[in-house]
Amino acid sequence: MKLDESPEMNAKLDTYMTWAATKLIFDFDVYCVVMFKIPNKFRRLAALRGYLRFQAAGKDFDDVWAWSSDEIKAFKGSEEQKTAKAFIDKVRSAFDARSEMSAKSYKLVARAKPRSLEEQIKLWNNNGSAKTIGKKLWDFVDNKLAEYPDTPDLPSVESFVKMITEEAKNLPAATNATPGLSAHGHLKAIDFHVTQNGNKVLHSGGADYWRSTGADDALKAAVTTVNNNSGRKVFDGPLKSPDEPWHYSYIPAEA
Ligand SMILES: [Zn+2]
Repeated sequence: MKLDESPEMNAKLDTYMTWAATKLIFDFDVYCVVMFKIPNKFRRLAALRGYLRFQAAGKDFDDVWAWSSDEIKAFKGSEEQKTAKAFIDKVRSAFDARSEMSAKSYKLVARAKPRSLEEQIKLWNNNGSAKTIGKKLWDFVDNKLAEYPDTPDLPSVESFVKMITEEAKNLPAATNATPGLSAHGHLKAIDFHVTQNGNKVLHSGGADYWRSTGADDALKAAVTTVNNNSGRKVFDGPLKSPDEPWHYSYIPAEA
C-alpha cells in the first residue's frame, strides 16, 4: 500500500521525521514552529531534507538563520542599511545609464530589505518545486519505510537521515531557500528587478527572458563597474545554481 494512503504509515513517517529533526543542531522549538507553519506534508519533508543537507555540508545555522523581527527593526535605518542602499543605488545608476537599457526605458530596482523568517516560510509554501521535490521524496521514502522498525532506534533514525539526504541526492534542491536559510535573511543577497514606465517587466523568475532582453548582461556590466569603482567585490554573481540572473550576493565591508 502507498504510504500516502495509510494513516499508520503516515504516522510512522511523521515519527521518523521528528526523530531526524532532533539530530539538527538548531533550536528544536524553532524547527517545530517552522513546521507548524508549513501545512503541506510534502513541503515539510522537503524542508527537513534541506536542513539536514545544510548541516551535512558542514554549514552553521547561526551564520545564516533569518533575523528576528527585533533584529530586522534594529537594522532599519542603521548605517549598514544606508551603506547597502548606497551601493544598490550605484548599480541602479550604472544600469539605467546604459544606452541599450535606457533605449527601452528599463530601470533597475532593488531594496535593501532583509527577508524575515515569515516571508521565507510564505515563499516556501508557494514554491512549486518544494512541493514537487517533497512529493518525489515522499514516494522514495514510501518504498523503504515499511522495512523500518515501528519504534525508531538510533540506527534506524540514522539510516532514515541517510535515506533522505545521501540516497536521495539526485533530487534537486527547491528553487527557494529552505525557510530560515536564505541569504536574503541577513541581507547577504539582493534580488534586482527591472521596471519599464513604472511596470515591473523583469522579476525573480524567467531567467531566459533576462538574457534575451539583454538585462542580464547590462546588470553584470553595472555590477562590474560598481565593484571596480569601489576597489573591491561588493556584489558577486549572478547566482548560477539555481539559474537566477537577478540574484547577487552582497558583501558588506569588513567592520
Ligand atoms: Zn534571491
